Amino acid sequence: MPEGLRLRAHEIADHISSRTKVQVLIVGDPCYGACDVYIDYKRFADGLIHFGHSPIPSVSDDDNILFIEAFVNIDIKEKIARIADGLPERIGLIAAVQYIGALKDAKNVLESLGKKVLIGKGDARLRYEGQILGCNCSSAEAVADEADCFLYIGEGNFHPLAAAFGIGKEIKVFDPTTSELRTTNDVRDRILRKRFAAIESAKAADSFLVIVSSKAGQRRDAVADDIAAKISEEKKKAYKVVMEEVTPNALLAYRVDAYVSTACPRLAIDDSLRYDRPMLTPAETEVAIGIRDWNDYGFDQIRG
Ligand code: SF4
Repeated sequence: MPEGLRLRAHEIADHISSRTKVQVLIVGDPCYGACDVYIDYKRFADGLIHFGHSPIPSVSDDDNILFIEAFVNIDIKEKIARIADGLPERIGLIAAVQYIGALKDAKNVLESLGKKVLIGKGDARLRYEGQILGCNCSSAEAVADEADCFLYIGEGNFHPLAAAFGIGKEIKVFDPTTSELRTTNDVRDRILRKRFAAIESAKAADSFLVIVSSKAGQRRDAVADDIAAKISEEKKKAYKVVMEEVTPNALLAYRVDAYVSTACPRLAIDDSLRYDRPMLTPAETEVAIGIRDWNDYGFDQIRG
């Protein structure tokens, strides 16, 4: 369960065991996404119920794992009609899984008001059309050429920032709970400045720790091998380390100058200030070691 659902873990456990007579064991480790499925469950149980995230089709092929997705049940039709005037003619719609059901309503309302609405089909990391993850905006990429802007329906910046970095179009965020319409431009620019600073400080690095995640949905051995080889070609040291939970404390002991995350890309993008040394994505590392131009800066996506 994600953190937010843990408060109700005992209720859910009671509910399942009273109706099925099966024994329930709550998995106590943190869980950040469907990339983070507890595949070790077989040591303790016959099946696993994963709450709050949709499966990642290119990762989840285990019939004994049941995903209980969490959808927000909210009628957004009137609210969308109120903001339609401020939107351009051709709009791409995107959402995280919680609001995926709202996309159809938003599309119908906007089309009835004369807009052209696009909902793209992403790659095999995404279950639904229009869905985005914090590490994958391929559904937006699929229709980016035809859209004047994208409208993200949902809360917070985590998901829309993936699209803001991943495609060169404005992302407007509509929060159905507050009815606020805003853009991600300021946050994106602020983060880009921080990324530039992190890359600059890593330019003097002679040694890099390339982090490989052991989580099924974050594991990218080929990406790690590729960036480690590129670092070595530039006559710098690259050490690969495999780990499940990447935390500042877990990295402290390694005597290297910078970290490269091939695990969740958001470790570098959102959490880098927590680390004592520069934390870069593979593409950022290429800029730092001088084999890629800053103008070719690209968002690190995990493709499906
Ligand atoms: S890798 Fe990161 S951004 Fe992608 S699904 Fe997992 S937690 Fe979310």
